[in-house]
Parts: sequence; structure tokens; C-alpha cells
Amino acid sequence: LGEGHAGLQQFAEAFSVVGTAMTEFLGGLSGSVHLTSASRNLVEEMAHWGDVRSSVNQFAPEDCWALRRGQEHVAGPGMLTPRCAHITENGKKGYVCMPLAAQGETLGILHLCEPNAAEKPQWLAERQQILRGVVDTLALALANLRLRETLRQQSIRDPNTGLFNRRYLEETSSRELRRMERSSQPLAIIMLDVDHFKQFNDTFGHEAGDLVLKQVAATLIEHARDSDVVSRYGGEEFALVMPGASLEEGAQRAEALRQAIKQLHLAHRGRTLGTVTASFGVAAYPEHGAGWAELTNAADHAQYDAKAEGRDRVVVARTNAPGERPAIQLVASVKAGADTKG
Ligand code: GH3
Ligand code: MG
Ligand code: MG
Repeated sequence: LGEGHAGLQQFAEAFSVVGTAMTEFLGGLSGSVHLTSASRNLVEEMAHWGDVRSSVNQFAPEDCWALRRGQEHVAGPGMLTPRCAHITENGKKGYVCMPLAAQGETLGILHLCEPNAAEKPQWLAERQQILRGVVDTLALALANLRLRETLRQQSIRDPNTGLFNRRYLEETSSRELRRMERSSQPLAIIMLDVDHFKQFNDTFGHEAGDLVLKQVAATLIEHARDSDVVSRYGGEEFALVMPGASLEEGAQRAEALRQAIKQLHLAHRGRTLGTVTASFGVAAYPEHGAGWAELTNAADHAQYDAKAEGRDRVVVARTNAPGERPAIQLVASVKAGADTKG
């Protein structure tokens, strides 16, 4: 599953219909579909149907004989085959675990249970044909879903850092901004650019540069909340959008990030890479506007000021509050000049 949890979530939605369909297809037998997670060390239940719960919800792949051996596994009364460790019922019940495999990969299992297997020895044989069809169709559908999720992730993420790309950020943030507007909440945006990165590349090489970007990205993720959108905005430029955060909270978060990045101990192929710093610009809704373009523009200008003022610092964009307009400040300085002359 391309993206671990996000992938599973999408699968869960798709599975809301599977349970109902299975009851019909399989003539009242209880059962479940379990899928192997992206990390491959957990098998999780995605759907179940019927009254009998005969498997635990989550287990390790080695707890299922079908997954261990890559083939259908049947156990029940009068049979010598071992029972899987994920099965919760006693020996009176019969069950089958069938691997869901497509395009050479096992995605999980279909599990079925017959509580009165001793009285219905034909329970599996009489459904063999329809079961094959169900398993093949399910496996193919799963493989397609997974492929679609992988492609979606590829189109919205930057491959080097794993962060969202600029396109995704712009789409999501415009939507978030409208949502904040409706619920009268603020939204802060931080833009940061790694300092003297070209020099860094020139000294240590492009590969070391890529590593720095990865580490900076990991630091941003570490400091982000679930609702934040962390993205790679450009080459060595990142943007963080924080729905619900005020301008002041944004500034505090930027300062924490500045310190965290500066404290990174970076090494590439045994070589210490020295200190990395970044320059930050912070802006927020409503202070700097209600549109995405205005906000990024304000944050971008603030970041540019941070560079000009000596780098390795956070600059908060100027607000449009009366008395703080650049135009008014300009008039004041002209006046001050006139005063000293006169
Ligand atoms: P400043 O402090 O003003 O930001 O200086 P800078 O050197 O960081 O800025 P500049 O824009 O001159 O250079 C940015 C460099 O970032 C140039 C480019 O080669 C490098 N870069 C952009 N994307 C990547 C990448 O994905 N990997 C690596 N290794 N370098 C990248
Ligand atoms: Mg740059
Ligand atoms: Mg730079």
C-alpha cells in the first residue's frame, strides 16, 4: 500500500461495500478480508461479514499459513493441517485462508469460517468455484486500487524529500484558506530557504546537498502537526501552511524550526557537513490578506528580507494595519528629513 496509513484509509472506504457483497456470494459464511500493510509487518482486517469472528483484527504475516506458504490453507475438524495463529476459534470450526495475489504480489488474505464444519464436510468444496472467482476479482481490484494510490502519491509528492509538492500545496491551501475564513480562524504560512546552499553543493557535492534537503524536510515533518501541510516549494525552498495558527504562532514555530535546523548534525559518507541554516518569512491570514497569492507574496518578501538582513533568521511580514503601512512610514521619514533641514 503506497502510503501506509493514507493508503489503508482509502482501502477502508472501498471495502465498506465488500462485506455486504460477500454475504451474498458466499452463501452466509462468515469471513473477512485482511490486507498486508506497506511496512509488511502487519496484516489488518479491512472488512468482515457474518456472525462468527474467527480471526483477530491484526496479526503478523507469519501468523497465517496462507501468507507463509503463498497458497490456500484449510484447517478444521478431522484435518491434520495446523491452525493459523491468527485464528481465535477452537477446533470445531473449519476455515480457509486464501492469499489475495495479483501481478506477482500477495496483498493479503480472504478468510472464511464454517462453524459447523464437522456436520457440513462439503462446506468448502461446494463453493470452490465461486471462491476462486471472488478471490481473483478481489485481488485484481486491490492491485488496481493500490496502483491508483501510488500514482496519486507520485503526482503530489516530491520524490527526494517525500514532502508534498508545490502544486498540491497550492490546491490544498486555497481550500484550507476558505475553510478558515468560514470558521473565522487564522492561517499561518512559513516560507524558508536554505542559506548558501549553492556553496554547500559546490563544496560537498550534489548528493550531500540532496541529503541536507532530506534532513531539513524530516525536521519540518517532525515539528509539524497533523493538520499542517509541509511542502517542498522549489529547489531548496520549503513552505509550511498551518491552518488554525495565528501570525504569532507561525512566528514561534518558524523560530523553533530555525533552531532545530541549525542544530542538525549532518554527515555524508563519514564526512561532517557543518552547520546548515535557513532564512524564514512568516505571513498569516487575515493580517496579510485573504488570498493565497497575497499570503505567499507577503511570506516570500519577508523571507527575502531575512536574507538581506544577514540570513539565519525569522522575519514576519509587515502588516497592513493603519500606522504600519510602508507609505506612511515613508511620509514620516520624509517629514523627519524636512524637520532636520528646517
Ligand atoms: P541564499 O543563501 O541566498 O539562498 O543562497 P543559495 O546558494 O542557497 O541560493 P541560490 O539560489 O543561489 O542556489 C540554490 C542552489 O540550490 C542552486 C541549486 O543547484 C541548488 N539546488 C536546487 N535544487 C536542488 C536539489 O534538489 N539538490 C541539490 N543538491 N541542490 C539543489
Ligand atoms: Mg532559493
Ligand atoms: Mg538558498
